[in-house]
Amino acid sequence: MAKKRFGIMGGTFDPIHLGHLVIANEVLNIYNMDKIIFIPAGNPPFKNITGASSFDRYLMTIIATMANNNFEVSDIEIKNKEKSYTINTVKELIKIYDDTEFYFITGMDAIIDLPKWQEPQELLKHLKFIAVNRPGVCDQDALNKIEEIREIFDGKIEILKVPMLQISSTDIRDRIKNNKSIKYLVSESVEQYIIKNNLYTV
Ligand code: NAP
Repeated sequence: MAKKRFGIMGGTFDPIHLGHLVIANEVLNIYNMDKIIFIPAGNPPFKNITGASSFDRYLMTIIATMANNNFEVSDIEIKNKEKSYTINTVKELIKIYDDTEFYFITGMDAIIDLPKWQEPQELLKHLKFIAVNRPGVCDQDALNKIEEIREIFDGKIEILKVPMLQISSTDIRDRIKNNKSIKYLVSESVEQYIIKNNLYTV
């Protein structure tokens, strides 16, 4: 029997927006995946999250994805108080799902830093990466870096261009701070959740 193919959407999702959903759906279709698992980062290795709590980010991710049967959300990282190293997450997933090929989907700006991640070589043995470009990031320098990483680690990294990723969580947080509308950038239910819980106002 053919192996199952799962996409892992990794990111802080602070907040999750329509760009993330479009990307997940594109990957699902283009790569003929069985499902996409969204994994909100609990305590990302390279930064401090100053926006919403991990609980709020996790709930917003559930709310945004619940209408799609091919999307799932995992609390594997947010329930862990330690730094969220992707290698640990992937080892956990391998224990849960056997006979499955994993693709880790995240922003190209995150993947060009892959050599600084925990055990990049080991990571690339267990999964393929899909680096999603956002306008302004996918320049020749970034492409050269990805090529270098492929060669050094003998790994598979694909680049996916999704124009919709012009939407960014940073821009959404800035809009809220400045009392500007975020309508049509996030799902209605996520917008309601943000308003109700007074998120990102300071
Ligand atoms: P981030 O700030 O949420 O994302 C970095 C960039 O990628 C942002 O431009 C973001 O845009 C975009 N992005 C986020 N999630 C995306 C997705 N699933 N698809 C497409 N674009 C996405 O997060 P980060 O801290 O860089 O981490 C990204 C992922 O890499 C997380 O899963 C994290 O755990 C992992 N990581 C692991 C290590 C390690 O193991 N040592 C180190 C660094 C990162 P938006 O702001 O609009 O979302």
